Formats: sequence, structure tokens, C-alpha cells
Amino acid sequence: MAWKTIDDMALANKVVLTRVDINVPMEGGVVTDTTRIDKIRPTVEDIIARGGKVVLLAHFDRPKGKVVPEMSLGHVAPALQASLGRKVVFGSDCVGEPARDAIAAAAQGEVVLLENTRFHPGEEKNDPALAAEMAALGDVFVNDAFSAAHRAHASTEGLAHHLPAAAGRLMEAELRALDAALGTPKRPVVAVVGGAKVSTKLELLGNLVTKVDHLVIGGGMANTFLVAQGVEVGKSLAERDMAETAREILAKAKAAGCAIHLPVDVVVAGEFKAGAASKTVAADLCPADQMILDAGPATVAALTKVFEASHTLIWNGPLGAFEIPPFDAATTAAAKMAAALTKAGKLVSVAGGGDTVSALNHAGAATDFTFISTAGGAFLEWMEGKTLPGVAALGA
Ligand code: AMP
Repeated sequence: MAWKTIDDMALANKVVLTRVDINVPMEGGVVTDTTRIDKIRPTVEDIIARGGKVVLLAHFDRPKGKVVPEMSLGHVAPALQASLGRKVVFGSDCVGEPARDAIAAAAQGEVVLLENTRFHPGEEKNDPALAAEMAALGDVFVNDAFSAAHRAHASTEGLAHHLPAAAGRLMEAELRALDAALGTPKRPVVAVVGGAKVSTKLELLGNLVTKVDHLVIGGGMANTFLVAQGVEVGKSLAERDMAETAREILAKAKAAGCAIHLPVDVVVAGEFKAGAASKTVAADLCPADQMILDAGPATVAALTKVFEASHTLIWNGPLGAFEIPPFDAATTAAAKMAAALTKAGKLVSVAGGGDTVSALNHAGAATDFTFISTAGGAFLEWMEGKTLPGVAALGA
């Protein structure tokens, strides 16, 4: 691997500037979901165990370069303190005297939390002067915010050029999982791409067909591919103007030796509503007054065979309109199958991006996947084959 980890750094008596993602949901000034906070614990504990002083840098919400009191990370400090079980010393700015004072005030074993990096306009502009001011506070830089790594900001990218830099534990786990799925995977590799539209996942599909052995296309975007093959899809969500693009993706896949799997049967209904009367028909027999809302059981059976013949699975996007039962059936069945194969040691399964995490949670399958990325945009950009600036900077 091109990047360093905490293990490669001497941290004793060092001030460790640690970029984390603690952009947690909040209501009325109270954190409603501490998942992101809980996930930074291994990195924080490791740095402290190695004798370093942890100084957390993070953004919160979108203050757009201005001080917005409701977006102060001070509101997150109590939840952070509770999750870490360590005293948190808050600094009212992420640079300058308030930051220096907070760092000086914290004893070894206490954690410093600095104010929202995005209160400074230089953060999102990746201003070298701001990065230099941040760098002046510490001795080394640990980036544990994979989910912010697709943005070249002062605290995610710029800072890495000023100090010795390494990946934190969460970043490390994410990079290893992504490498196992698409970098140096055990073949055959199957990718499942679902979701609403082809137009939002063009680059992703274009990249995947050159890297994986099987590509399963599901959800609304499968309708566009069916249309591209001359199939009528009635009232279904389909991007008819993307038909030519879909045909290009199919041709690229063929040239690259990637097998494309489209639904062979589908679940249709007259409207997108809970409890709407639905039936299963062949994929090319959607009635003109109906819409496709899920893949059918024959498709799931075919998919199961592909999963069983594969060693690695990468998944983004649901196979149907999973939020409204019964249109969650195919996504849930396929997710359960992937989870069972993973549990049996037959499959390395990595999933992430947007609705995928909630779809797999809904299926009760998420805990058995090898790795679930909660990174959203960064995960998708990585699936598109893009270099993430925050990761690239760690290898510099
Ligand atoms: P995405 O954010 O692109 O992953 O899309 C996820 C959304 O696609 C979910 O809200 C699903 O309800 C929706 N979706 C999946 N399949 C269909 C379908 N056949 N028709 C309409 N919406 C769908």
C-alpha cells in the first residue's frame, strides 16, 4: 500500500492533528445518532496508547466559510466525551490562539476538539495558508475521514503536505476493503449496481465494466437498459434519452469481457404506493399501464447463481423501490444471500453509497457483509475509479 498507517509513525509526546468525520445528525442541539463518533474511537485510543495527544479537526454541516453558531462543533463535544469516555477540551477556533490554548490545556489522555474547519473560507478552497496555520499546531497528521477524502480541502488534503501523514484506523479499514473489492480482488468479481437512474451512475458503470467479471444492473436504471434493448416498460421510471448511452455501456462491457445481468422477470404495479396490487411478469411484458418496481424471483435465483460462482462482491444501489414493501423483496433476498455466503467464508462482500446502507440494514444483512462503507460520495467516486485527493495526499 502506498500510504502509511499509525503503525508507521512515532507518536510519543507528539501532538497528533487527527481529521475525523463527526458530521452527525443533530436535533435541537442534541446528537441523534452517534455512529460516526463511535467509529473514531479505535484511532483515538491507538494514538493515546502510543503516547500522542489527540487533536481532532472536523467539519460540521455547511457554514460556507462563515461562523454559524448553530453549526459549532461545541454542540457535539458532550456526545464525543460520552462516547470516548475521556475528557474533551474544546477550542473555539481550529487555528491560532484558541486552538493553541486548548491543546496546552489538555492533559495526556484528554482529547482536544477544535471548532468547525468550515468556519474558515480557506477550508473548502484548500488555502495553503490555512493548512499551514493548522500544521503549526501539531507534529503529525492522521487522516481518519475517508468520507471527506473526495474533497481537496485544507484539513483533508492540504495539511498532508505540511506534516508527516498517515491513515487512521477507520481510513485504513476502508482502504483495505476497497482494495480487496476492486484493487486486487479475488476473482470472479460481481458488482451489483441498482438505484434510480443511469444518469447519476454513468462513470461508475463505465469504470466497473472494465474491472469486474459480472455486472448486475437493477432498480430503476435497469428499466433504461431494457428500453435500450427495445423492451417496452409501460409507466416505469426510465431515462429514455439515455438509451444510446446504455447501449454504449453494454458494448464496452462486451469488449471488456464483462457479463451484464439484467432482470429476467419484474414485479409491476399500477402505482408507487404501499400495498398497491402487484404481480410478477417477464421483464419484456410490463403492461402499458403498470410500472416496474422490483426484480422478480427468477432474477433473484439467477443472481444467486452468479453470487455463488463469485469470490468478491461489490454493491451499490437497491434492486427495487425497497422503501415500500413488497418492492423490497429482491433487494432483501439478494442481500441475505450475499450475507450468508460471506458468513460461510465464500465471498468477500463490500457495499456502500447512499441508500445502499439503509437497504442492507433493512434486509438485516449489513452485519454479515465483509465491509459496509458509510462514506457516500467518497465511496461512489472511488467506484468511479477516481483518485481521492485526501487518500492520494497520504501517499505523497
Ligand atoms: P440511488 O440513490 O440512485 O441509489 O437510488 C435509490 C432509489 O432508487 C431508492 O429510493 C429506490 O426506491 C429507487 N428505485 C429503485 N428501483 C426503482 C424502480 N424500479 N422504480 C422507481 N424507483 C426505484
